[in-house]
Amino acid sequence: MADITLYSKSACPFCERAKALLASKGQRFTEIDVEADPATLDEMLARSGGQRTVPQIFIGERHIGGFDELAALDRAGELDALLESAGKQRATTDAPPEPERTRVLIIGSGPAGYTAAIYAGRAELEPVVLAGLEFGGQLMLTTDVENYPGFPEGVTGPGLMDMLQKQAERFGARVLCEDALRADFSKRPFRVETERHAFLADAVIVATGASAKWLGLPSEQRLMNRGVSACATCDGALYRDREMAVVGGGDTAIEEALFLTRYATKVTIIHRRDELRASKIMQERAKQNERIEFLWDSAVDEVLGEDEVRGVRIRNLKSGAASELSVGALFVAIGHQPNTALFAEQLEMDDVGYLKVESGTTRTNIEGVFACGDAMDPVYRQAVTAAGTGCMAAIDSERWLSEAAD
Ligand code: NDP
Repeated sequence: MADITLYSKSACPFCERAKALLASKGQRFTEIDVEADPATLDEMLARSGGQRTVPQIFIGERHIGGFDELAALDRAGELDALLESAGKQRATTDAPPEPERTRVLIIGSGPAGYTAAIYAGRAELEPVVLAGLEFGGQLMLTTDVENYPGFPEGVTGPGLMDMLQKQAERFGARVLCEDALRADFSKRPFRVETERHAFLADAVIVATGASAKWLGLPSEQRLMNRGVSACATCDGALYRDREMAVVGGGDTAIEEALFLTRYATKVTIIHRRDELRASKIMQERAKQNERIEFLWDSAVDEVLGEDEVRGVRIRNLKSGAASELSVGALFVAIGHQPNTALFAEQLEMDDVGYLKVESGTTRTNIEGVFACGDAMDPVYRQAVTAAGTGCMAAIDSERWLSEAAD
């Protein structure tokens, strides 16, 4: 068994994903909660060269980084060998030589993927869900979900995803925390491969969701995890008692800013227009919060700081005037990009990457392949609409399978 140390904190979705990935390989690890004892935060910063984000993972003395770096090693097929050499034993078995046959394969595990799995499971199609290493989707990064019907007091994003997974499994869905790496829709059955499994599926439901966008500045990249973050619930507590900034004007930006007021002395929302895109109720909450200020018509041109964020250089988009804002952390919340690159050249998509479906259905341009959730929805992008289209995709696939069988 490899000697693995994982620095973490509570309510950290990336820590949960890293733990699930290690557990899927039969690995045990020492977990250190950096919030429980300030000395352990200093220890993590010293060992990781100043990475102020959790998790930070060490295999033996080798610093791996966070969940993204761990997942990248796994996707490259290098993690097993690393665990094996660290533990002097095989970490996992090799992929089975023969692909497994399944009626319905669901790629993705947000509300769309799990709802499709609940319906396909109840239709006795025994679906396989490739939940991905980033299982649970965007809701894993959300704090309170107040607009999902059926929860008058609200529900946490990770809590909701856990319930949806359990509900899907109750009806026979098999959930694998593995990424789909290759998909061949050129002939039926469709072939989809992960690092460890290959499947031949009669029908495929694509529910791969969307991922957070970045500003694209070199300084943003350089100071990533050193004050730059896209996840307030993960990293907000690590920048306690500093001034912070959030870029964006949508619901995510407002939600991040409200959450950060628990830790920040002040939160400035930097938005490129003078009007928010966020829902009215969220706007009101932010405007009434004394710790939140707004910087309108403004773009971030550069993130400032050598080893950690010290501020941001701002440009007023109306006057062109440049200024600096002194902050200790910058949270980027400027929307999402659909995760559909895997299906380029096979499935029709728009210029941004949203999958195209036949109006009023979830049918893609390939018969037997269905799309749901944020991967095909540039308009609504809500958890409940994703769940709704997930339900549609399962019903569409069930009907298509029975028509194909006739
Ligand atoms: P949105 O697309 O709604 O908002 C993105 C924001 O970022 C916009 O204000 C946009 O500006 C700004 N932006 C985009 N690109 C850039 C850029 N390059 N530089 C600077 N600013 C930029 O994304 P969200 O993630 O906020 O929300 C996605 C969906 O999820 C929405 O449907 C939202 O309602 C939903 N959601 C709901 C929540 C809730 O109800 N509790 C919580 C979180 C999300 P502009 O306005 O000028 O286009």
